[in-house]
Amino acid sequence: MNKSIDVPSIKSQGYEQLLSYYLEELGKVGTSEVGLCRRPFTADYEKAAQMVATWMREHGLEVRKDEVGNVIGRIEGTNSQVKVIATGSHLDTVRGGGKYDGMLGVVGGVIAAGYLLKNYGQPEHSIEVIAFTGEEGSRFGGFLGSKWMAGALGEKDINSKDEKGISVKEAATALGYNLSEELIAVRKDIEAFLELHIEQGPVLEAAGCPIGIVSAITGMRQAEVIVHGRTDHAGTTPLNMRQDALLSAVKIIKALDACVRQSGGDTVFTVGQIDANPGSVNVVAERCAFTIDLRDPDPSKLSGLYEKCLEEARTQAAQAGVKIDWQEILTVEPVPCSVRLRETLAAAAKTVGLDCQPIVSGAGHDALMMAEIAAVGMVFVPSAGGRSHCSEEYTPADQCLAGVCVLAEAVRQLAYN
Ligand SMILES: [Zn+2]
Repeated sequence: MNKSIDVPSIKSQGYEQLLSYYLEELGKVGTSEVGLCRRPFTADYEKAAQMVATWMREHGLEVRKDEVGNVIGRIEGTNSQVKVIATGSHLDTVRGGGKYDGMLGVVGGVIAAGYLLKNYGQPEHSIEVIAFTGEEGSRFGGFLGSKWMAGALGEKDINSKDEKGISVKEAATALGYNLSEELIAVRKDIEAFLELHIEQGPVLEAAGCPIGIVSAITGMRQAEVIVHGRTDHAGTTPLNMRQDALLSAVKIIKALDACVRQSGGDTVFTVGQIDANPGSVNVVAERCAFTIDLRDPDPSKLSGLYEKCLEEARTQAAQAGVKIDWQEILTVEPVPCSVRLRETLAAAAKTVGLDCQPIVSGAGHDALMMAEIAAVGMVFVPSAGGRSHCSEEYTPADQCLAGVCVLAEAVRQLAYN
């Protein structure tokens, strides 16, 4: 058994500066007025992918690109009978995004793999570092790269279009990728996928804890609720003779919020959109539509609470004398992280001398899709002020490196004998 990784040696070998340099350099590609905007199948995206491929080669990794544009750096293992230990994250950003979301997991993976190869030689299991394309859904639907790898990118995804009417397939073909439904192939050779990511929330910073080990990636239920009332004159209709759609919507929203709060735990509930018609200052609203976004890492709690919300909305609507339509928008099942990988990551944190705590991921990640084909684990590092998906997104260099050290030690434990 090889000796565990040594944090001072990582620092003395210049990896901390290199990590900051990579993040800074990637942060210069695709700058927009309000932060980064690097959408898949664009010249900026290709430039960033090229930079990462070059860095992978400089660390001794063999590089290839797949049909959807994922960049894959590989260190061949000594034992062809055992499966790949993979790590990575995405290289695209939201519009107006920051320099850390996704990129930290990519360049952190490159550095972890490079350090291991240099200091420990060839591993038993092949190691892959993957820079996924199109996770954010800022041009097409999200998770393009990881869905492709998991064999879950279907015809519908490939033919879906951006706001200019260009499909995923057309955009990929224009850049020389041979993306077609017939080529969809599921990777069956990956044993474990570890993703290092910024938390994108305030929990670790508030707790003063440098490392979060993700217990589960939260599940999500989204719906649009339309309340149908009756339009009336705002001056002449007595309050007790109205069917006010907007007021009824407010009562329903308050009741749903109370319902979720009562349930306690990790559940979060958001009404992010509301729209009243006809939308005049002196007219009682006839129709009011609002959205709900309900998230929880526990599958049975999430579905139970969703049903309870639906029932509660119907009760409230009946009391208010209005009708409702409840239309489901999206269902994403929660994904628990592998118990074995959570233990490996916690042991790795302990080995490198860092405190860690379990944490739920409230956002989706490539690991969500990779869970279809491999055991997954995630490491979070704190986000300053909990800010993310904005140009203020920041994690200090030493905290980024802490995440890389945990990742490197975990990969070492899994890939070396
Ligand atoms: Zn991300």
